[in-house]
Amino acid sequence: MSFADLGLSEELLKTVEAAGYSEPTAIQRQAIPSVLMMRDLIGIAQTGTGKTASFVLPMIDILAEGRSRARMPRSLILEPTRELAAQVAENFEKYGKNHKLSMALLIGGVQMGDQVKALEKGVDVLIATPGRLMDLFERGKILLTGCNMLVIDEADRMLDMGFIPDIENICTKLPANRQTLLFSATMPPPIKKLADKFLSNPKQIEV
Ligand code: AMP
Repeated sequence: MSFADLGLSEELLKTVEAAGYSEPTAIQRQAIPSVLMMRDLIGIAQTGTGKTASFVLPMIDILAEGRSRARMPRSLILEPTRELAAQVAENFEKYGKNHKLSMALLIGGVQMGDQVKALEKGVDVLIATPGRLMDLFERGKILLTGCNMLVIDEADRMLDMGFIPDIENICTKLPANRQTLLFSATMPPPIKKLADKFLSNPKQIEV
């Protein structure tokens, strides 16, 4: 199976070719078509499997339609650490370089001023750690009512770091009819419970 069979736009196929990827990885083959069909997804996969592209690529095609408004991000990617958030942002920039999409990275340890300015301009995708996101939300700097796509990445690490209550809180602020993708290397009971509560009829894949 090639990237061209997955339903991605011609524009993204060029990006993938430029990145030097000759064929999709197992998680990309299974995840990309179903994310493009707007299904919820549980992906049981480790880092190194090509998991990031499996949600960033279809997200770029979904976001290519429509535009953002001030303080109302259209999609949200939650990461447990600043480093992972920064890595996903790099991926988003690489894969999205031919698209006019805007991104903001909300992580701790960085001054809030520039993050608030970016939010004011309107962003298509917000990549955030849960703590900083909640902080800016509580200050009224973010509205999550227009955010129709949520990715909870590295869910088992989120659990280890005590972020599950924050994530539950964030989920309740998003529209109920959103698309939710959850990725985790393992599926301990609290993550299964989180998925049962906040995902709707998800496709489950394991690589
Ligand atoms: P990840 O699992 O998302 O951390 O990705 C691991 C590495 O695999 C990254 O350096 C990607 O650039 C690379 N990668 C992702 N998809 C592919 C692919 N289809 N073919 C070759 N390399 C890939």
